Amino acid sequence: SARADGVIRTPDPVDFDALVARFRSLYDAEPDGVWAAPGRVNIIGEHTDYNGGFVLPIALAQHTVAAVRRRNDTVVRIASASINDGAVVTLDLTDVTEGGDYGWAAYIVGVGWSAGQRDLPVTGLDIALDSNVPVGAGLSSSAALSCVTARAWSDLLDWQLDNETVADLGRDAENKIAGAPTGLMDQLASVCGQESHAMQIDTRAVTITQLRFDLPAAGLSLLAIDSHTEHSHADGEYAERRRSSQEAALRLGVRELRDVPLESLATTLDKLPPLLRRRARHVVTDSARVEQTAAILLAGDDLRRIGPLLNDSHASMRDDYEITAPSVDALQEAAVAAGAHGARMTGGGFGGCVIALVDQQDAAAVADACVAAAARGGFPTPTVFEAVASGGAARIR
Ligand code: ADP
Ligand code: MG
Repeated sequence: SARADGVIRTPDPVDFDALVARFRSLYDAEPDGVWAAPGRVNIIGEHTDYNGGFVLPIALAQHTVAAVRRRNDTVVRIASASINDGAVVTLDLTDVTEGGDYGWAAYIVGVGWSAGQRDLPVTGLDIALDSNVPVGAGLSSSAALSCVTARAWSDLLDWQLDNETVADLGRDAENKIAGAPTGLMDQLASVCGQESHAMQIDTRAVTITQLRFDLPAAGLSLLAIDSHTEHSHADGEYAERRRSSQEAALRLGVRELRDVPLESLATTLDKLPPLLRRRARHVVTDSARVEQTAAILLAGDDLRRIGPLLNDSHASMRDDYEITAPSVDALQEAAVAAGAHGARMTGGGFGGCVIALVDQQDAAAVADACVAAAARGGFPTPTVFEAVASGGAARIR
């Protein structure tokens, strides 16, 4: 069930009382506290993170919530409402190693593993989870899970870590124990998000600039349109794009594509063979589009002005980086045709979500147009919700 406005359906909030009640019945004890960490959506800057470039995510209002109790041994017990009817999984932290296979529990025990690598004092935990972040939609349910765990563990054991390190524990869990090769963006966004703000992240320096991004105040709305499609070869394609980026940087004699200046880009790229030229052009121009978007936010200009940058980003992903898919291209086109100021695929690509910047009064029409376009193209029916910039991981009880 969800709050519905035509086809726009915002996921129901997580019921904290029910979660605490479930914790009690599972573990026959009170939790020490309740923590929440959000999913995220990237406004602009795709596949720039592993090139040292810029990204611009917001944290979402949808989050993963964990009721947690500290244990005195090294056992971790976890139950997630959405998995196996909430059945408890039990693991011992001393058994967790790189290359092990822990399924979804990797995102949790991986945090404890990473803390151990850093010589932080680690004890086991009992955890009950619930979430209203769509899973596998490119909205980073995985970072919501790893970061709620990192925030809770750090607070309960008083590790006194800065936000970047909390995010890094989450990334270690994803990269080294779950085996998912993500950059740090997802976790930084989940940990550092602020209400009504977008985060310009310099992925090389790992610095975050909070920029006011108050769409409702401007009469605007950001729709997240989940295509419910995913390319089956996305992992291999992702690896190929990483290799191409590295090779292009090598041939251009720079450390990373981030170091290619936007000025005289055409002449610089002439040194590359056609395929690498297109790949590099996407990375350099999309990172520049993050800076252009950030400049609009910083100046407090009309937020509608970022619309064309969103469209250019989509075209760049479609034509140069070749990471879109017919399903998301159809949604992007339909959103713009129905009056969106701009729209683009967001996330790793080959499916996933499209975001569309719309005037509030046009939101329902744009959403309807996307559903109709998917039907015409023979694609799955997309689901649409409003993405609202919200706060990062925190203790809530
Ligand atoms: P995304 O991060 O885009 O949602 P990923 O494939 O990176 O997609 O992460 C999804 C995986 O994260 C799931 O398959 C599952 O292993 C884990 N996960 C995310 N949320 C939960 C949850 N609430 N409970 C259990 N596992 C979860
Ligand atoms: Mg993920």
